[in-house]
Parts: sequence; C-alpha cells; structure tokens
Amino acid sequence: MMYADLHLHSTASDGLLTPTELVTMAKSLGFSAVALTDHDTISGIAEAKTAGVALGIEVIAGIELSAIDDREYGEVEVHILGYLIDPEHKSLHEVLKLIIESRRDRAIKMVKKLNKLGILISLDNVREIAVGESLGRPHIARAMFEAGYISEIREAFSKDYIGRGGLAYVERFKISPREAIELINGAGGVAVLAHPGYLSDGTSLGEEDIYDYCQAGLQGLEVFYSRHSQEQQCCYKKIAKKFNLLVTGGSDFHGGNEVLLGSVKISFDNVKALKNAI
Ligand code: AMP
Ligand code: ZN
Ligand code: FE
Ligand code: FE
Repeated sequence: MMYADLHLHSTASDGLLTPTELVTMAKSLGFSAVALTDHDTISGIAEAKTAGVALGIEVIAGIELSAIDDREYGEVEVHILGYLIDPEHKSLHEVLKLIIESRRDRAIKMVKKLNKLGILISLDNVREIAVGESLGRPHIARAMFEAGYISEIREAFSKDYIGRGGLAYVERFKISPREAIELINGAGGVAVLAHPGYLSDGTSLGEEDIYDYCQAGLQGLEVFYSRHSQEQQCCYKKIAKKFNLLVTGGSDFHGGNEVLLGSVKISFDNVKALKNAI
C-alpha cells in the first residue's frame, strides 16, 4: 500500500524539523509522498524536494495560507492549502512577500506589548527560535516558554497574552479565503480547504460555508485530518462528494509530539486525483 501525508510544517514556518529532517522521517515511516505546507511560505520547498529526490520519496509543493473570513457572526480564521503551485509565479511572490513582512512587523508589535505586560522577551529571542522566514505566534510562545514565563506553550495562546483578541495580540495581515483561493489558482495550484472541522476558535465549517468557497474556486477538502473525529471525517467526505471536491488529508505534524507523523495516511489514489486536477 502506498500512502501519503499532505499537511506538514517545517522550520520554514513554525515546525521544529528542517525540511530535510521531515522528509527523512516520512521516508523512514514508509510514506511514498508528502506535501510540505508551511504557513504563508514556500521557502522550504526547494530543500524538501532535494531531500525527496535523494531519498526516493515524492515531495509535493504546498503552502497553507491563513485567511480571515468576515461572516455575519464574526471573523473566523480559515486556512487554505495550496498544492502544486508554480514557485516562480510573480503575483504569488509579491503577496507572500507582503505577508511575510507583515508577520515580522506583527511579531515586533506583539513582543512590545508583552514587554509592557512584564514579559521580558526580545525579538532576538524570537529570532533565535524562528530560523525560517515565516514568523508566527508559536515562535513567540516558545520564547516565552524558554524564558520561564509559561509552563506550557498553549498558555501563551490565552487572552492574557497572544491568543486571538488577547492583551498582547496583534491582528494579522488580512486576506480573505476568496483571495487565498484565487491566489493559489492564479499560481497554477489546487486550492483545498484545510481542517474544516478544526478552526482555531474551536468552531467548524459547514456545508454552506464550503459552498461559498466552491463559488470562489475551491477544488478540494481536507477530509482526513489528525483532529477530525470519525464523524467529521464521514460528514466532510459526503460534502466533498456532493460538491465534487477532491479529497485530501494530512496530519499537520509540526515536529512535536502533540500530533504524530504517521497519524494520517491517505491513499495514493487521492494524490493521483490531486495531480490530475492540474
Ligand atoms: P499565527 O499564524 O502566527 O497567527 O499562529 C497561528 C499558529 O499558532 C497556528 O497555526 C497553530 O500552529 C498555533 N496555535 C494556535 N492556537 C494555539 C494553541 N491554543 N496552542 C498551541 N498552538 C496554537
Ligand atoms: Zn503551525
Ligand atoms: Fe492550519
Ligand atoms: Fe497546518
């Protein structure tokens, strides 16, 4: 049986393993293909591909774009996965550059706010942890943890610190799910809705939301996901079928031990269908 994991993070964003380490680990676990899907960056893809060629495992170029959807009941953060994008695409590069710069700017502001709250970490502390270009809240959380201000990473994501709407939180650069989908499609890639059953605020997306994204050009649904229940998996599979969406899946492994590489294994038929969609 050939199987794949299409949702992995490396040190290019907030993962703990380098792209090479990640691909090596996937190969040793028997995967035939993986997709690297770092937050808002494709800077780890070249290294992952080189490792894939050396080890004999297929590496699919991917990205996970963070979008904010303005719905009538409030804003929700929605993640859009992009697969098989052209890494040289000009407007993709321009938008990613803006996002990466704004992430840096946002990190500076959040560190300043934390300092005012008595959390004395510096941007240099964060920079030592964030080796890649895509700076995120997990890097700040790790800096807080290493300095002994919190005893668990998730404490940083409370309203007291950098949780959404928290005292030291700074809003991110906003792109809508529609813009994210169009950006991926424009760069020749396939746009897939990530973990519809597991949004950062604990809610999930339903059929109507997914229908709206289909109108914007969505082509796939991440049905298989480490934090989806059997019930959710079943429900999203039905929705995918109804809207004629590709079925994908992945673990969202970040290198730690909350979610393990190998916890999600999707059939190679899903990978083939994804490639045929191009
Ligand atoms: P950012 O993209 O910088 O806003 O950071 C979002 C990332 O932080 C998510 O993709 C998760 O990896 C991580 N994250 C969000 N909420 C939590 C939490 N409660 N505990 C641990 N990590 C979290
Ligand atoms: Zn992450
Ligand atoms: Fe995500
Ligand atoms: Fe992810």
